[in-house]
Amino acid sequence: MPESLRCCPLCRSPDAAAVSDRDREGHPNVTVLCLRCGLYRTDPMPDQAELTRFYRDLYRLEYKGVIRPKGHHVLRAARAARDRYRWLLPYLSGRRRWLDIGAGSGEFAFLMNRQGHQALALEPNRGYAGYIREALQVPVREGFLDDLGPESEKFDGISCFHVLEHHPNPVAALDRLRGLLAPSGILAVEVPNIEFPYVHPRNRFHKAHLVHFSLTSLALAAQSAGLRPLEHRTSGDGGVLWSVFEPGEVQPVRPLPGVANQAMASEKRRSAARYYGSPAVWRRAFLRLTALGTERVRALTMPAPKIYLSRLSLH
Ligand SMILES: [Zn+2]
Repeated sequence: MPESLRCCPLCRSPDAAAVSDRDREGHPNVTVLCLRCGLYRTDPMPDQAELTRFYRDLYRLEYKGVIRPKGHHVLRAARAARDRYRWLLPYLSGRRRWLDIGAGSGEFAFLMNRQGHQALALEPNRGYAGYIREALQVPVREGFLDDLGPESEKFDGISCFHVLEHHPNPVAALDRLRGLLAPSGILAVEVPNIEFPYVHPRNRFHKAHLVHFSLTSLALAAQSAGLRPLEHRTSGDGGVLWSVFEPGEVQPVRPLPGVANQAMASEKRRSAARYYGSPAVWRRAFLRLTALGTERVRALTMPAPKIYLSRLSLH
């Protein structure tokens, strides 16, 4: 393993402390915290060939047990797509050409097109890319962000929901995304919030997530890729980070003093006992179970995904 791959992909510091040695399936998977900037990362990173094969062929299958989404997956993804559309609505006027990266089963790209935008979905998984094309009739390209070179067309808006955490080098990915934006383009990013307290300590690290962001480390990564925040916050329940960026100046990475120590202290405070002792955890579990049950029942009578999405209220 070259030494550079053992350094932090954000600030290049080699100083790191292990915070977990298992993924949420219980398999060996070491996650470290950068002691300079506070970015969490898998260590060592898997190599690129391994990653490409994983996403092209295996990821959705391993993740959900299917190659194509089932009805209840579509219902859940449609709700997420509607929430994201509502979040981004203030930015959408006049932004016609849109790229949705890591489009999954394509619900967001479908809704964008339904609302008059010209959205292209980019999805690395063959099964899902085929589903987007055939079931939703949304323009789709099967591939990765790295497949869009500098000669690619530019976009008025790019969304990447739950994508950056899968990249071994998020600054390089953000830099590439910036290169795909038109001069007045915007980039919408959603990633899991590593500081979210209501997760069992054993369930925090998924082997497909190679880096893990806080609001602070995502802001640093964006700055160092020449992106300026228009909006940068946690979602309503705090589980994910929601950011909208525009092209700006590339800034050197200057982590705030103490940011990594604070993250380390909060890691030490996490425990299963603390998790189970939190009323918010039980409240969330109840709501989640109720929503899952409702989804399963509604999925029994839902129309074809395209018809369902065509009728979905966005207001
Ligand atoms: Zn770092």
